[in-house]
Amino acid sequence: MTAEFAIQGLPVGRLAGTFGTPLYLYDGEILRRRWAGLRAGLPPAMEVFYSLKANPNLSICALLRGLGARAEVSSLAELVTAQRAGVPAGHIVFLGPGKTVDEVDACLRAGVAAIVCESFGELDLIDERARAHGTVAPVMLRVNPGFAVKGSALTMGGRPGQFGIDEAHLLATGPGRLRRPGVRLTGIHTYVGTRILNEQVVAENTARILELADRLSRHGGFPLEMVDVGGGLGIAYFDGERDLDLDLLTGLLTPIVGDFAARHPRTRILLEVGRYLAGPAGVYVTRVNYTKTSHGENFAIVDGGTNHHMAAVGVGTLVKRNYPLALLNRMDEPRTERWHVTGPLCTPNDTLGKAVGLPPVRVGDLVGVLRSGAYGPSASPVLFLSHGHPAEVLVDRGRAYLIRRRDTVDDLLRAQHLSDDLMAGTPHPMTEGAAR
Ligand SMILES: *Cc1c(COP(=O)(O)O)cnc(C)c1O
Repeated sequence: MTAEFAIQGLPVGRLAGTFGTPLYLYDGEILRRRWAGLRAGLPPAMEVFYSLKANPNLSICALLRGLGARAEVSSLAELVTAQRAGVPAGHIVFLGPGKTVDEVDACLRAGVAAIVCESFGELDLIDERARAHGTVAPVMLRVNPGFAVKGSALTMGGRPGQFGIDEAHLLATGPGRLRRPGVRLTGIHTYVGTRILNEQVVAENTARILELADRLSRHGGFPLEMVDVGGGLGIAYFDGERDLDLDLLTGLLTPIVGDFAARHPRTRILLEVGRYLAGPAGVYVTRVNYTKTSHGENFAIVDGGTNHHMAAVGVGTLVKRNYPLALLNRMDEPRTERWHVTGPLCTPNDTLGKAVGLPPVRVGDLVGVLRSGAYGPSASPVLFLSHGHPAEVLVDRGRAYLIRRRDTVDDLLRAQHLSDDLMAGTPHPMTEGAAR
């Protein structure tokens, strides 16, 4: 018996045959389930904004928009992606610590729900550009709070950082100094960490941010039209981790949000969610091109690695921990052996899985990295060694859609320019001499 991994009845071998490898496969059914579960679990007053950073594919964004997701974007291309996916401008917020004039202008032209301002310098720029456009920009102030959050994989807040304006600076600033004719202050934004797997921490965060927003808007003398409590909801990747318990989270959040909403009935409460929605929906599918042993250990060399999935490789982390890996074409075989699953790059770090328990691996097998729908190719050096972007396929309602084709060599070289002068070259004195 050979149980083969399948998405909505489509076997992975057939999908890999049709679209080639390496390949990102997304399951629309899982996206829908994640959305429905989260929506049902969250207090109704909370609006969910999909963070395109997690997976900026147009079709993924459009599917989530169809379910009711709004969009949180951080670049010009992400803004246009959200718009092409059908997200109305009034459902888009734009953030990022280094906004350019072009980005601010695009936000003003589009009429986004809010620009999230991350510094006093940016407040001046937004003011200037809004007045040039003859408009008033809705602006949320991003705050670097005085408190830090424990239990997050990446802690922001309560320490020096490039994001937002320090809470202490805002408190030291009189309301008059925040006023700009081109700016309408609409609220407070805080995002303090990602990959949070503790329900209590999420709830505590939310409570502290709501309290902070209340306090800072009163200090700043502007009405709290909206408060963005960030997010950072995690998913389990590694041994010993467990997914968030939504029932538990709902139970903790409901009174906190309910209490705030009762006191601020007109304030919109925004939650940003990337990984939680997209992560479980994706599998990175690679094919084994070679197997070998070296110094007594097994290596399966597959056709993709760091270049498409830096997070699974763990570049930049201190200890290599394995994402969930599986031999997709023989899911039910006992994992009796240990294999290093390595990619095609010419660097020893290019290891998708280290000493992974797998059945005996053969050339032609498909090895998948599960839970890979977030922070995949867009968060990886896809140009490293010039392999280019992998194909992406979304299976939805039983049909497979190619939602991004893999890069061709022409795609990779198109943007480069070689002038005739450089091609002809100035003869090197040595070769010139030798030719004579
Ligand atoms: C990255 C980011 C997110 C998305 O984080 P996830 O952990 O993927 O949900 C949301 N908001 C801000 C400000 C971010 O920087």
